[in-house]
Amino acid sequence: MRPTHVEIDTAQIRENLRKIKDSLPEWSTSTAVIKANAYGHGSVMVGRIAVEEGYESLAVAFPEEAMPLRAAGIMVPIYLLGITLPQSFDLVLETRSIPAVAHSTEFQALEECATRHDQIVECAIAIDTGMHRIGIAPEEAVAFVKEIESYPHLKVNGFFSHMANADAADQTHAKGQIERFRQMVESVKAAYPERHFRFSMANSAGLLVVRDSLFTDARPGIIQYGIMPSLDVPNRLGLKPALSFHSKVVHVQHLAVGEAIGYGSTYVTDRPMTIATIPVGYADGYPRSLSNRGSVLIHGKRCSIVGRVCMDQLMVAMPEGVDVQPGDAVILLGKQENESITALELATLVGTIPYEIFCDISERVPRIYV
Ligand SMILES: *Cc1c(COP(=O)(O)O)cnc(C)c1O
Repeated sequence: MRPTHVEIDTAQIRENLRKIKDSLPEWSTSTAVIKANAYGHGSVMVGRIAVEEGYESLAVAFPEEAMPLRAAGIMVPIYLLGITLPQSFDLVLETRSIPAVAHSTEFQALEECATRHDQIVECAIAIDTGMHRIGIAPEEAVAFVKEIESYPHLKVNGFFSHMANADAADQTHAKGQIERFRQMVESVKAAYPERHFRFSMANSAGLLVVRDSLFTDARPGIIQYGIMPSLDVPNRLGLKPALSFHSKVVHVQHLAVGEAIGYGSTYVTDRPMTIATIPVGYADGYPRSLSNRGSVLIHGKRCSIVGRVCMDQLMVAMPEGVDVQPGDAVILLGKQENESITALELATLVGTIPYEIFCDISERVPRIYV
């Protein structure tokens, strides 16, 4: 196997999931958001742990992402967070997923597909409370239930809305979204007093810091993986990262002054230097924008990336006095001795968020569950 791999601490994922579940009131259900292969952590593994920890349902972005979960024997309801086009309706039925629906949904085609499969499709109505990504206006909710349920094979499971600014220090926008959702919930409950719809709003940031964002269901994503949505969200549950990114030194050179390193010769040695080559590159999702900026850990010491990050390899400069051999362990993300490199540190250097760092770790990097 490649020396370059990701390790996922499943006990840590379980502890995070348990702490999140324990922080919720007993009347709330919870939906583990495991889209994008569980933010790079492995959706089957995280989905299984979530079900074992009592999460009532899972959520992914589109029906293809539900397939490996069903193939692995996971039976709980799976919500699809994005709008599904008719070309994918068969997959919705085959995976028995719950699609997000709005005016753009082709209900007649969905009804025909459900009839063909001889199944009822449960739908989650997307409500646009102010993010303006997908969803119907909150005032349209009651009439929309009637419209959907005029199709014999379609049934409304519940309502969800997504928060645009729950992780911001200023909660004005978040409060406005909650108020619009709350009024929608009131109107639906008044029109359908006998129904038990699911009302879902809170994402990770909502759960941790926005009061009243929890309706009947929580949708944590990034915090399951031990990462806070932003610097404005304190880690009040004591969650910890579970993913580390590893490699090994494969080549060592001792260079004289004036030698250029890598594509474009963007780094030139200004003293005799020891350079270690590591078999990881941007094709593995290690950002090329870390060229001449990032660092890795070897023997517990930070070693600067010198020259450009290549597709499959990168070079680092060994600090004075640190001996290195081919085969020595390298940490790209995680802890080694007393040093650590966090997803937030990489994301900040690159100008993005930890979510993207995780999602970018490519499929060719093996995931090892420890
Ligand atoms: C991704 C997503 C979530 C989870 O968001 P986090 O910030 O990771 O908690 C919840 N709901 C919807 C609709 C999403 O798209």
